[in-house]
Formats: sequence, structure tokens, C-alpha cells
Amino acid sequence: MMETVKDYFGAAVFDDRVMKATLPAKVYDSLKKTIDEGKELDLSVANAVAAAMRDWAVAKGATHFTHWFQPLTGITAEKHDSFITPAPDGGVIMEFSGKELIRGEPDASSFPSGGLRATFEARGYTAWDPTSYAFIKGKTLCIPTAFCAYGGEALDQKTPLLRSMEALNVQAKRVLRLFGKTDVKRVVTNVGPEQEYFLVDKKLYDQRLDLRLTGRTLFGALSPKGQEMDDHYFGVIRPRVAAFMEELNEELWKLGILAKTEHNEVAPAQHELAPIYTTANLATDQNQLTMEIMQKVAAKHGLVCLLQEKPFAGVNGSGKHNNWSIATDAGQNLLSPGETPYENAQFLLFLCAVIRAVDEYQDLLRISVATAGNDHRLGANEAPPAVVSIFLGDELNGVLEAIENDAPYHGAAHTKMKLGVDILPKFNRDTTDRNRTSPFAFTGNKFEFRMLGSANSIACANVMLNTAVAESLRQFADELESAADFETALHALIRRTVREHKRIIFNGNGYDEAWIAEAEARGLLNYRTTADCMPHLLDRKNRELLTSHGVFSEAELASRCEIMLENYCKTICIEARTMVTMARTQIAPAVGSFAAATAANAACKKTLCGALACRYETELVETLSALTDEIAARTAALETEISALSGGVAEEAARIRDAVLPAMEALRGVCDEAERKTAKTSWPFPTYAELLFGV
Ligand code: ADP
Ligand code: MG
Repeated sequence: MMETVKDYFGAAVFDDRVMKATLPAKVYDSLKKTIDEGKELDLSVANAVAAAMRDWAVAKGATHFTHWFQPLTGITAEKHDSFITPAPDGGVIMEFSGKELIRGEPDASSFPSGGLRATFEARGYTAWDPTSYAFIKGKTLCIPTAFCAYGGEALDQKTPLLRSMEALNVQAKRVLRLFGKTDVKRVVTNVGPEQEYFLVDKKLYDQRLDLRLTGRTLFGALSPKGQEMDDHYFGVIRPRVAAFMEELNEELWKLGILAKTEHNEVAPAQHELAPIYTTANLATDQNQLTMEIMQKVAAKHGLVCLLQEKPFAGVNGSGKHNNWSIATDAGQNLLSPGETPYENAQFLLFLCAVIRAVDEYQDLLRISVATAGNDHRLGANEAPPAVVSIFLGDELNGVLEAIENDAPYHGAAHTKMKLGVDILPKFNRDTTDRNRTSPFAFTGNKFEFRMLGSANSIACANVMLNTAVAESLRQFADELESAADFETALHALIRRTVREHKRIIFNGNGYDEAWIAEAEARGLLNYRTTADCMPHLLDRKNRELLTSHGVFSEAELASRCEIMLENYCKTICIEARTMVTMARTQIAPAVGSFAAATAANAACKKTLCGALACRYETELVETLSALTDEIAARTAALETEISALSGGVAEEAARIRDAVLPAMEALRGVCDEAERKTAKTSWPFPTYAELLFGV
């Protein structure tokens, strides 16, 4: 009989169903308390869980276990140990203890630490995160863990994410208490990340050094056809891609990942996958796994999955939409307009918390999505601009304006808008948002943060968002807890927040140049590149925010800033060196040979008949010869810029932005021109048209 999705969904995950079925009731209850309420776990429980996990995993064919973690390399890391232990009879038994489950000690010396840990202090440790389920990949039981230096400083994405979720939980509960919600045990952050990617043919990919080394094309004349016909978006999925998607879904479902939507995206060869949302922590782990599995499954289909933000010039790049909301453990979405005016007062307060957070910490949101790859997209009319703003939609905007001006609200209920609890109107959830140009859009009951790059971990964006909103809620709770009259104070607070922070609200077209000018006039920040924004991570207000909520220590922040800038520099230097290599060893020789062949053709024709003009050949040879000279000159210029880099990482990043990137652009320009002039058969690697329309 055919296995249905229902049968195998989550089959590779040690999830709640398995825990319930395999753990003794007392152990299960105690583990649940740890998962749901953050209660400390004792070793006897860990031992029992480890034994159950091992039996479950071994029965499924697992031979190894690993602590699976997310260092700041952008990808995941794992070190496998087998379960085997020698048995007295000369054979082996499969062993896995609570201690091995809870803590691991990988050598941390080769992971980025941004100066946190001198390399001789190589020890780091991984600590089990019981809020994310263990799973089996291949023959290995993977245990999601946090990764820290020996002194406890976070070296990964997960640790600050968990801390930020906790900060939000604490402050949101304070606010909910003021609304009489004393029974809420926990407030959780929910996230659904929509993932964009490209698929290209592996045989073509293999012939391009730039794709192999950097994940993007550094050269390439535009294809005669790009995305201008709008015929790819939601178009019929081609058989090879459909087969890929089918297998991808199966693999994700086995891992309990709720892959839900898939479709073709705007650019040729571009696609999207969206899962159903889950808690931010799981969503982060699952998004990392999704990216990894996408690449593995693609390889099985003779394809390569490109996750880089801008693999091709001239067509859209890839991003990730981070759909974010907060909810109580009972499942009440705190960003959902309620049924009653009273609920709406609570909703408006949470909405204001987000508005204030995004306005005050625009820079942190920008920083959270800053990478060399994503810099190509932001503001290039294919993704939101680098300026952060919020889209609310007409209805909500109307409500906020009415509150701000104490004016009657002419929306759905036509009632005078005042936050006195029983006169607040009921208004309907606005689902009209199709403004795809906003970086941060309210979409009915969640916010969609659209600035993330496709290759990014979603952790950092959610860390910043959670912490900034926690800070708003902290200030709101401080003010409201000490108010003599709650309702009056609430009304005043909402009104004041709208007044002070409405500059961040923009409902128009974010791709419009006029908006950038207006945004600057409003005093909004516009950090166009990673080099521009990253140093502001260490601005006093940002350090205060992140340290006061216990999300980062000062040392951790300094190290992250260093790592992110270093990453930017290294990425672009690798790209630049790849360009030098390709220009010098592939492009210039190819153009030179083609020029020589053309000259030989002309000479040959002249031998036959001295009177032939050979104008075509003569002009072409002149053009090609000039182009090869220019390629050589610009290659040398780029090389000079690379070797001139020195100084601290911030200066280096600035220099890369100001000198290296323009030199790369200049070299590309002349090489792409040469491609347009050179015979297809002489070009050393596959062209854009082949790559984009080759599957
Ligand atoms: P679209 O962006 O095309 O309107 P949807 O709104 O259906 O698509 O969902 C996009 C993503 O948002 C999905 O991953 C979905 O699970 C997620 N999502 C939906 N509701 C919430 C919510 N309350 N909190 C977080 N994510 C959500
Ligand atoms: Mg969306």
C-alpha cells in the first residue's frame, strides 16, 4: 500500500507524539515543563530522555548522534559520534547518556568568534535546546543545541534568539496582566519564513567558477529575454522542477517541516517555498534545514539550488519574508484585531509597541539583514529599499489617525474614536495588503519583514525584532502599572506613541525614488550597505537595548560586529579574486583567440582575393583588441585595489565599498561587452540565457 503523507509526516522527528509514547509519564511531564515553561532539567530526566531517543533513533537505523548547531558561519555545523561502546563480550552496545544529550564539547577554534576567544582557548560547548525537537538525518540523530565559548559567551545564532524570545515573553506578560490576563503562562514568537531560490542545471553550473566559488555570477551579458514578459511568476512548473519540489516536500515532511506553498517566482529559474509558521526557534532551525535539504535534493535531480541573494544581474534576486507575530500559550494572537473594543485596545497597544520598536531601532533591523549579497537587492527595485518603514493599510491607518487627533473614526463602525474602553469601535481586520514594496508590512494579523536575504539565517532579524518590541512593552508596562487610571493612561500612551513615531509609517510605493527623499526628510535612516550600517550595532542606544534585556553581552556584541564586517570583507574579496582569475585566465584569452581567429579569417580571404575589403573582420578585430587591453587594465586595477586593503575591519569594509566594488563593476562592464562581441562557440563558460532558461 502507498504510504500517505499522514503516515510519514514527522517520521524522522523525536516530537511530542514520540515523547509521549516512549517516555515514562513522570519524565514526559518534567520535560514538558522544561519545554513550555523553561524549568531546569535534572540529570535523571535527561538520562531517561537520552535512552528513549537512542532506542527510537537506533530502531530507525541511526548509528551516530551529533550536537547540531548554528555558528556564525551562516550554515549549520555538526560533529558525529557513534553510539557504539565496547561490550564485555567483545561486541558493542549502543550507548547514549543524559550527559551526552545535554552537553557537548566541540573544538571551537575554527568557528568565527570575533576575538571573543583566543584560538588557544579552543574549548567551546554545545548545550541541548529542548524546545527544538531532535531529528534523524541520514544515519545520524541530530540534537539541536546552542553553541557557546567556554566562558558562556554565545558563538551562535540560537542563543541570542532564545534570550530575545524570553525577553519578549517577560515584558508581554506584564502588559497582558494589566488587561486582566493573569492566566497567560507564556508569550511566544511565531514565524513563517517564505524562502526564495534559483535552480540551475548542474552541468552548466560546474562550468562557471564564479557560481562554484561565490554562488553568484560575477560576469554575464544579460539574456535577450529576462523577466519582462512576467510569464514565470506563478507559471506552470516544469517537470524537472516539479520532480524536485515533490521530493523536497517529502524530505521536509519527514522532518516535520510544514512545507505548504510552492510556486515559480518572478525571475526565470526562480522559485519559492513557504512553510506553515511555528515558534521562532523552530522556524529558525527548520529554515536552516530547509536550505540544506534544498541543495541536497537539487543535486539528486542534476540541479543546483542557488540561495545567494543576487545570482544574476538584470533579474530579481532572492529574499526571505519573515512573517512574525506574537501569541499566548493559549493561542491568542496578540497582533490580531479582536472582536470587542476592549480586545482592540489591547491589540492597539501591541501594535504601538511594534511601531515604536521599528522606529527606534530601524538601524538594528537594517543591520539584521546586512550581508554583502543582500546589499545588491535592497533598494534595487526588486526588494524593499534600505530605508525601514511600516505599512499599515488604510483601515488601521485611519484608526490611528483618529486616535491621534481625537477625531471621529469613519471606518467600519462609524463611531467616535476614543480609547475609553467601551466606546472604542470594532474594526475589521484589513486584508487588503498587496503592497509588496514595504519592508515591514502589517498583513492582517502579523507583520511581514521583507528585507531578509535568501541565504540569511532568520535568527538575527527575529532577535532584533523581539528585543526592540520587548523594550517598547517594558516602557509601556512601567508607565501603565503606575498609572492612577488605567484607561486614561492607556489612551494617552497610545496617542503619544502614534504622534511620536508616525514618521515610520508609510503606505505608498517603497520603490519610488521620491519616497527615499521624503524618508530622509522625515529623519529616517538610509544605510545603503553593510559597511554603512554594521558599525552602528555598537551605538550606545543599541548596546543599551541589547544588554539590558540580557540578549547580548557587551563582549558578544563587539564580537558580532567584527564577525559580520569580516564576513562582508571576505565575501567580496573572494568575489574580486575570482573575477581576476576568470578575467585573466578565461575571458581575456578567449577574446584574444577569437580576435586572432577573426584576423586569420580575414588574411585567408585576402589570400584568395586581395581586393576583398574585410571590413567586418577588421572592425571586429580592432574592437576586440581594444576590449582585451581594457580587460587587462581593469583586471590589474582591481588587483591593486585588493592588495591595497589594510587596517581594521571597519576601514577595510569602507574601502571595499568605495573602491573594490566599483573596480569589480568596471571590470564586469568591459567583460560583458566583450561577451556580446565574441562568438558563442569561443565563450569560455555558459551564458545567462543558458543558465536562466536551461532547466
Ligand atoms: P502571503 O504572504 O502570500 O499573503 P500567507 O499570509 O498565507 O501568504 O502566509 C505567508 C507566511 O506567513 C506563511 O509561512 C504562513 O504560515 C505565515 N503566517 C501566517 N499567519 C502567521 C502568524 N500569525 N504569525 C506568523 N506567521 C504567520
Ligand atoms: Mg508573503
